[in-house]
Amino acid sequence: MPDPALHPTLQRQLKRVGLLPSARDAAAALPALLERVSRCYIEADQDRYLLERSQEVASREMSELHAQLAASQARLASLLSLSSDWIWEQDASLRFTYVSAHTNEVGRDLATLLSGKHALLDLEAVSEADAKQFQALVAARSPFRNFVCGLGQPGGRPYYLRVSGEPVFVGDEFRGYRGVGSDVTQATQAEQRVQQLARYDALTGVANRGMFLQQLEHALARARQTDTSLSVFFIDLDRFKAINDTLGHDAGDELLKVVAARLTSLLRGADIVGRLGGDEFVVLLDGNPDSTMLTRVAGRVLSELAEPLRLAGRPVQVSASVGISRFPGDGTDAATLLKCADTAMYLAKARGKNNFQFFTPQLADQTARHLALEGELRQAIQHDELLLHYQPKFDVRTGALLGMEALVRWQHPQRGLLAPGEFIALAEESGLVVPMGRWVLEAACEQLRVWRDAGLDPPRCSVNVSVRQFAHPALLDEVRNALIAAALDAGALEIEVTESVLMADPERAQQSLKRLHALGVQIAIDDFGTGYSSLAYLKRFPAQTLKIDRTFVDGLPLDRDDVAITRAVISLAHSLDMRVVAEGVETESQLGFLADAGCDEAQGYLLGRPMTPELLADLLRGQGERRAA
Ligand code: C2E
Ligand code: MG
Ligand code: MG
Repeated sequence: MPDPALHPTLQRQLKRVGLLPSARDAAAALPALLERVSRCYIEADQDRYLLERSQEVASREMSELHAQLAASQARLASLLSLSSDWIWEQDASLRFTYVSAHTNEVGRDLATLLSGKHALLDLEAVSEADAKQFQALVAARSPFRNFVCGLGQPGGRPYYLRVSGEPVFVGDEFRGYRGVGSDVTQATQAEQRVQQLARYDALTGVANRGMFLQQLEHALARARQTDTSLSVFFIDLDRFKAINDTLGHDAGDELLKVVAARLTSLLRGADIVGRLGGDEFVVLLDGNPDSTMLTRVAGRVLSELAEPLRLAGRPVQVSASVGISRFPGDGTDAATLLKCADTAMYLAKARGKNNFQFFTPQLADQTARHLALEGELRQAIQHDELLLHYQPKFDVRTGALLGMEALVRWQHPQRGLLAPGEFIALAEESGLVVPMGRWVLEAACEQLRVWRDAGLDPPRCSVNVSVRQFAHPALLDEVRNALIAAALDAGALEIEVTESVLMADPERAQQSLKRLHALGVQIAIDDFGTGYSSLAYLKRFPAQTLKIDRTFVDGLPLDRDDVAITRAVISLAHSLDMRVVAEGVETESQLGFLADAGCDEAQGYLLGRPMTPELLADLLRGQGERRAA
């Protein structure tokens, strides 16, 4: 029965916790109740204590973790400051938001350069392929590794960086990139230098042979696909050796650099300049050039290279010979096109240098013939197929025989007797002129000996010496030996050197002539009037005779220019104490004019053609008889 004195709710509560509902019962249950309440308090105290303890532990652990984190950050910072690597972060618009500070100068520089200024994609990839790959990775928000890029600094040093990065996502949201980078400037520059050396000519900076051929092959492949044409220029300087020899190799190098720069400045972007070696340059003209355009470019190449310049403090002017080949007409591969342009260049040389020539199939035939002829000429020297004819020189007034000139001929087994015009240039080009010239010297001296031994009194004999032979250090010994072998005194011999040979390198020519003259040999300057002699040099050359070139004698006595030139040469020679010989005298009127003008000697078909030694012996006998009579 519920106790009516207790509140019904209390009664319900008491009942729920198992207490008796009556007041008596409640009083009886109070101690137990109090004990339970008190136990509750005790338990609550224990819980609070435990809670406080665990809070204490958590806070201690927290500060330990903080300390560990700080230590690890310090360790990382100290390691980073030792390396050239740095850490960076970017926001979602790919702007640098953080670049780790650096203690070294490069690092600090980089940090300032990168901070906020350069978006990741502004970095320039070193290669185009790298750039594409990198951009694709960034666009796909993918990680990238070891991307090398350049960071140009206006007015300052260029930097090359290697960067690796990871995208940062929070959930699905892209928040930017974070990564590492390092300065690889030195290594990249060293690598670029190696690449440069492997592909470009170290002296001039233009493509080397390998690189040029490779580019030519690429251009050919494109031209084949697009059905277009291209062209190769082969450019050879005309007097490079002379410049190298007179002004020194440094000046020669300087000239090559100027030539490379001038050629480069003439061309458009797709065209390529290369140096094959020595003074040989090549140019690839891409983009379907037609003949008109090629002619125009070739003309510009010639005029640009002919611009005067100063080398070793001296004014110098050079010229070049240019050969041109075309794809697809002349050849379809790089090697053939280069060979055709080279062949055409030789034609330009043969046509007087300082000009350009297009390759033609006839030219190929001619080159083949030349090659064959060169082989035959080599044989001819060994097999005694060469012989000498002698052309007399006479006193203009008395008609007395004063001298003769040995002129080489080639008794070709199939083609008959060949004049020097058919093989001297080839001999010169191939260097065969040196052994050939030695043979001529020996044969002429021997012939003088034969005539003398036959009781004849041959006058002085002159021998022509060519460019290469004149430049050859053995010339002096060869002259001396030929004289000794034939037991002749040096006065029996005269050396004819053309004016253009002397002017190719006047300083050196002067030295060579002095040595020859010291030997006792006479010197004549041949073909005078064709080689632009400087009068200053003429005075310094120890020559005794000037030979007026046939082209001036031709127009005498009517052509006013020829008359004026001949008179001037005679008076110039006499004022320098030299004798004058007129070459190519064919008519009495020419001879009459020369006699009046005071010319000393004459040589020409009118007075005597080049003749065999036998005919010359007859002439000598005739002269002897005339003198005796
Ligand atoms: P060069 O030394 O000026 O010789 C004169 C050339 O003119 C010779 O031609 C001669 O035959 C030719 N000639 C002489 N009189 C007349 C004339 O009245 N009318 C015409 N139209 N021509 C005349 P060649 O023998 O054909 O020699 C040509 C050139 O070849 C020579 O010119 C010389 O430079 C060179 N040469 C000849 N023999 C030798 C040689 O043994 N060694 C070298 N290095 N060159 C040589
Ligand atoms: Mg001559
Ligand atoms: Mg001559």
